[in-house]
Amino acid sequence: MDNNILDIFLETGAYLEGHFVLTSGLHSSKYFQCAQLLQYPGHTENVAQKLLEKLNPEDVDLVVSPALGGIVIGYEIARQLGVRSIFAERKDSNLKLRRNFKIEKGERCLVIEDVVTTGGSTQEVIDLVLENEGIVVGAGVLVDRSGGRADFPYPFASLVQVDVKNWTPEECPLCKDNIPFDKPGSRGSGKN
Ligand SMILES: [Zn+2]
Repeated sequence: MDNNILDIFLETGAYLEGHFVLTSGLHSSKYFQCAQLLQYPGHTENVAQKLLEKLNPEDVDLVVSPALGGIVIGYEIARQLGVRSIFAERKDSNLKLRRNFKIEKGERCLVIEDVVTTGGSTQEVIDLVLENEGIVVGAGVLVDRSGGRADFPYPFASLVQVDVKNWTPEECPLCKDNIPFDKPGSRGSGKN
């Protein structure tokens, strides 16, 4: 991993190390909150450029991202490519295009997200593109914390790869060492 990139995550508080209780109730020693990085347009421009260099997509017509996490980074990627950017929103548990957003038949779509944990949202956006008869050019994320489980039959790139271990409270080694925990999800991040 590019140390420079991890430094940006650490500096901005987008990557925390410690003892965390995730919104799922599981415990972890690492926590990602990309919104902390994405609040800085300069850093966002920088990481978007690096992700684009890795993806190197051909002839993109538009960027499609899942709301909310993917919107800012998707928009910046689209800005650098000079194409439009749309997002899908979760309604009745499915990601859907709303606000009259459209993917025209044959449009070449780049799928962008902030974090993949299982790859579920990215796969849903890919399915949405295909349902609309668009073409999936590739998929990119800032952070892949799936430990290699997120896998797509398209060019896929991530800037940061971390295999984040989660534990139940009973099996958490940090709890066994009586290390105080933080509950970042309870402050409204909700990404885990
Ligand atoms: Zn714990």
